[in-house]
Amino acid sequence: MRGTKDTAPAVPPPAPGAEQYLALDLANSDLAVPGGRDFDLLGSPEAVKQWLVERELVPPDTRLYEVCAGRVRALRDEVRTLLSARIDDLPAPAAAVRAINDALTSAPSAALLYWDETRGPYRAQAHPIDQIVNHAIAILAADAADLLTGPDAPRLVPCGATPCRRFLIRTHASRQWCSVRCGDRVRAARAYARRTRPNPD
Ligand SMILES: [Zn+2]
Repeated sequence: MRGTKDTAPAVPPPAPGAEQYLALDLANSDLAVPGGRDFDLLGSPEAVKQWLVERELVPPDTRLYEVCAGRVRALRDEVRTLLSARIDDLPAPAAAVRAINDALTSAPSAALLYWDETRGPYRAQAHPIDQIVNHAIAILAADAADLLTGPDAPRLVPCGATPCRRFLIRTHASRQWCSVRCGDRVRAARAYARRTRPNPD
């Protein structure tokens, strides 16, 4: 959607697979909007916080600073690099693999076991204040590792509608775009190409 520089474009619905994989959702937070505009859904600390709260990765009262927002964006960029490498069947850059492993080991991604006299045994996330973002990053990194090594990895594709750079998990062989909007754009471009193709004679 066209707008002033500060206006968010209409964000397309989640790409197929993005509701299942937080890592795919994260990768797709870097939008390329038709008309040559880019829009980063994680463009500010407030936006990053909102994104994390909506996915229940941080509590709503979290205060998130730019340094933490930058770490989430950096992880996003490494995840995008790894998804592209997986799709293109290329070796993964060592730095990207290291970034995932650093994130994975920066905080426990599993709920810890607690045991007290009134409640007995129960599991809960450890949330020391300085660990909140580490914890969210660890969960996102774990999800990326699961996606890259799991049964859905072979069906991971980039959206086929330029300039879109979202990824999706293909649900059937013909599906090559991330949203109805992208599919319509491809069909319109094909129709235009057919109309304007010069006659062979
Ligand atoms: Zn798309």
